[in-house]
Parts: sequence; structure tokens; C-alpha cells
Amino acid sequence: MNKSQQTSQKHDAAPLHTIDLIRKKRDGGTLDAREIGFLAAGAASGAIPQEQLAAWLMAAWIRGLSLDETRALTVAMRDSGEKFSPRGLGKTAVDKHSTGGVGDKTSFLVAPLAAACGLAVPMISGRALGHTGGTLDKLEAIPGFRTALTLKEFEAVLGQCGASIVSQTPALVPADRVLYALRDRTGTVESPGLICASILSKKLAAGLDALVLDVKTGSGAFLRKREDAAYLAALMVATAEAAGTRTVALMTDMGQPLGRMAGNWIELAECVELLRGEWPEGSADLRELSLRLAGWMIYMGGKVETPKAGYWAAAGALADGSALRVFLEMVKAQGGDAAVFDDLKGFHKPGATLVLEAWASGYVSEMDTTALGWAVQRLGAGRENAGEPVDPHAGIEFHARRGARVERGQPLATLYATRQEMLAEPVALIQQAIAIRETTPEPVPLVSHVFLRENAETYLRDAVR
Ligand code: URA
Repeated sequence: MNKSQQTSQKHDAAPLHTIDLIRKKRDGGTLDAREIGFLAAGAASGAIPQEQLAAWLMAAWIRGLSLDETRALTVAMRDSGEKFSPRGLGKTAVDKHSTGGVGDKTSFLVAPLAAACGLAVPMISGRALGHTGGTLDKLEAIPGFRTALTLKEFEAVLGQCGASIVSQTPALVPADRVLYALRDRTGTVESPGLICASILSKKLAAGLDALVLDVKTGSGAFLRKREDAAYLAALMVATAEAAGTRTVALMTDMGQPLGRMAGNWIELAECVELLRGEWPEGSADLRELSLRLAGWMIYMGGKVETPKAGYWAAAGALADGSALRVFLEMVKAQGGDAAVFDDLKGFHKPGATLVLEAWASGYVSEMDTTALGWAVQRLGAGRENAGEPVDPHAGIEFHARRGARVERGQPLATLYATRQEMLAEPVALIQQAIAIRETTPEPVPLVSHVFLRENAETYLRDAVR
């Protein structure tokens, strides 16, 4: 059969033609589950050519996907390849997913915290995307650490440690691999329905019992506007629940970097300080958010009666060192050299360092966190082109949080670059991104809203889209 005339002839149903589905979406129609399944299967197998998938994606981006279409796409993508089953572990499987931010490193805390409280945390993570950092890139700063495990190895690490953080295998959710790469090249990333299906298909393929979503809002989020982030949060909760996974979404602040470090190794080092029970002042928001997210994981996993009780269970696992033990065991089980955590500062060997001083006296009143994320990437922590290596030691340590009083000449940030000549552009970006004014900014709550199934469905019904 000619690929561009790809058809489906199942049982007594009428055959499907990709061109008809493109035209239907283009003209504002709604596709049914069989039609959506046909597109997802064709993307995964390569039977539908890229130009037709790209045309359908653009039609879907412009016209939007209905709730039923979003659900059908999520499930069809989830089922497009192999899946992981945590059933053999004999524990409730719970994960957390963030929509991405700057200095967003809660995975290294919540995974061991929840595992230390008796849950299994099978976490399939991603690499740096745009201005945001990637969990896998950060973990690979540990010499020897392997993120590309087979599903058998993944299961073995989970059985031994309770938590494992790995990359997507080639056979897991192949429809997303194809569609995501196409969206990246065709300007069709920022669509709530497509983002929802992309994220959830991967999470649901890990066989989770429950999922905690961290949906970022503010200047460093992909969806900066509150109402867009709220719609995505409600959509993901309703969709995952309809697919049978208990899900909660916390809308959290990304109006400044989370914690005081943004980069690769330095973010891991900041987490290990907290796991050791230290309380650096600039890491207070990271500690608090991690306990809140882990608290919800522990509650959704059925270990406690309330999210608050989950918070205190997580705080206990932080205080008694059990979460640190899980983290170090996981590092060793995935081939990493855990001895690097014996001397956090000694292992940090950036090519060039610069202390940026405050250029005025006043309050840190605003941060363009997306620009700060680009500054981190351009110091060498991220990549310009897919597949390039990243510098484990590049990044930024922020010495002042939003709302802090600074005096001219006081250290504002320390920049770590691969080479001296890579410092100038990030310095300029930071100087533009941070506003120092005479007035203090309005305080912003760390967690501004929580969506569970009931209020998510109500929100979606009321949303004018
Ligand atoms: N992360 C994903 O995995 N998919 C998206 O579409 C956006 C963020």
C-alpha cells in the first residue's frame, strides 16, 4: 500500500484515510477514538508520513482538541509501544512529574522521600528542554551513572531501592517520540491537549497507581499565564483519572529559580545537603515544595490519611537519613560513584568562575526566570543542538531571592562556565533579567492551587475555550 494512502479496514468499520482526518480537524471537526487511535498507531509504526502528521498536528494546534480527543490520544499513545508493570514489586507505584522550570530539582528529593516511606517510584525522566534543565543531564553529572536502563534493570533497581530514575526506552511510547520531535520542528508544542497527551502517555505507560503533577506558573514556566497553566493542570488531572490513575496537580511558583542552584552537579549537591538534614537559607523553597509534593505522593499512595500527614512522614524521612540512604543506594545501583558526594565542593570543578555583584542597592523585585534559564544553558549546562554533551559543572548559584534587600557591590550570583569566554552573554542576560528596585514585590505563594478530580472536572466544564 502506498504510505500516503494509508488506510485502516477493521472488522465492519469503514476504512480510515489520513487525508480525511486532516481535513476533518482542519475544518473544526471532532475525531473519535478509532480515528485518533489510527493516527497514533500510524505515527508509531511510521505508516503515516511525517508531512501528514505535521499537517494534522497544526490543525489540532489551531482548532484545539476536545476533552474526549485528548483522552483518546493519551490512551492511544500510551498503548503505542511496550509498557512497564510495577505489579511484581508488591508496592504501590507513585510518581511526580513537573512541567519544567529553572533549578527545578525536586525529583532527587521526592523520589527517595516517597520510597523511604514504603512506595515504589518508577520515574521516567527527560533531558533539558528549551530554557529548562533536564533530570537525566543532572544525574549524569555523577561519574558512571546510567540512565538508559532496560525495563528489567529498572525493575531490579526499584526492587532493591524503591526508586529509580531512567530515560525513556526506545520502545516505550514510540508515538510520542515521533510526534514530539515533529512538534518541536513545526511550532506545535504549546497546545494543552498535545502537551497533556505527550506527558501523560509516558507517565501512564509506567503503570502508576497514582501521580502527582507539579504544574509551574510564572516567568520561568512554559505556560506563563496562570489561566493557561490552570487549564493544563485541570486537563491532565481529568485525563489521567479517566485513564484510571489517581492524580493531583499542584500549581506552583516558577517566578524565580527553585532553590539557590541551577545547573547540573550543583543542583544534585544542593539536594544532597538537604537530604543530609542541612537547611541552607536559599534552599528553603526547594525543601518546602519537595516535602509538599512528597506528602501528596505518600497520601495518594495510601500510606497516610491526609496530605499533611504525608508531609510530616516525608519530613521524618529527611530528618532520620532514610531518604539519603535510598538516594545513595539508587546512585550505586545505577552504576554511579556515590563517593563524589563525600566532598560536594571538592568535586565541583568549573572551567571558569565569576562573582556577579549587585549593580544597585534595593530589593530584588522581579526575575525573568526564562532568561535566567537561558543564562544557565549558555554557561554550558545545556545544549545548543540535540545530542551535544553538557558540562556537568556549569551553572549559577543565586545569592539573593526575590524580595531580598541587596546593597550595591554585594554578591548577587556566582556563575560557573565551561570556559572564560562563555561568561559575558550570561552576565548580560542576568543583568537584564533581574530588576533591583526601591519597592518590595508582592509575595507569591509557593503552591497557589490544588486540582483533584472533582474540581478539575468542574473547572474544565466552566472554562471558556
Ligand atoms: N514535556 C513533554 O514530555 N511533552 C510536552 O509536550 C511538553 C513537555
